[in-house]
Amino acid sequence: MEQWIRVLKAADAAARWHVDQRRDGHAQEPYVNHLLEVASLVTEATDGKDPDLVIAALLHDAIEDQEVPFEMIEREFGSDVAALVREVTDDKSLEKSERKRLQIVNAPSKSRRAAMLKIADKTSNLRAVARSPARDWSVRRRLDYVDWAKSVVAALGETNSGLEARFREAAEAAEASVRPLV
Ligand code: ZN
Repeated sequence: MEQWIRVLKAADAAARWHVDQRRDGHAQEPYVNHLLEVASLVTEATDGKDPDLVIAALLHDAIEDQEVPFEMIEREFGSDVAALVREVTDDKSLEKSERKRLQIVNAPSKSRRAAMLKIADKTSNLRAVARSPARDWSVRRRLDYVDWAKSVVAALGETNSGLEARFREAAEAAEASVRPLV
């Protein structure tokens, strides 16, 4: 019972921390949609048995996008959740291209749970590329994003077969969305 309360408290915190943030896509979905999608993916993959991973999924962009202090996450949700969030947080002081390169370089050293969170994150982002690409993203940029996401996921190694299947479906859908109709 207590775990339900913690998960919903995290969902509530995520909704409030990201309240004014929208996804890049033309649909301008509320950012919390992305967080809930990633949380749903890891919940399904772990059969609901890893509440800390679900909470970390809800909070995975809080430090990177909203500069929520690490200590606040640690205090409110515990050190396991905070460590998972830190593991999937990019260093924003670096150039974007360097951050993207480091995601591939650092992928093999991620813990299995952080790797699951990352593959769920990339799956959600690829679904968004297929469904609602950003207005200023050219076809080339969309395809480059798919290729980069595949490289990150390949470098993560074996994570979870269900998540890997969801990821492959999302990558195929993103590629299909720019392919000429036959
Ligand atoms: Zn994310």
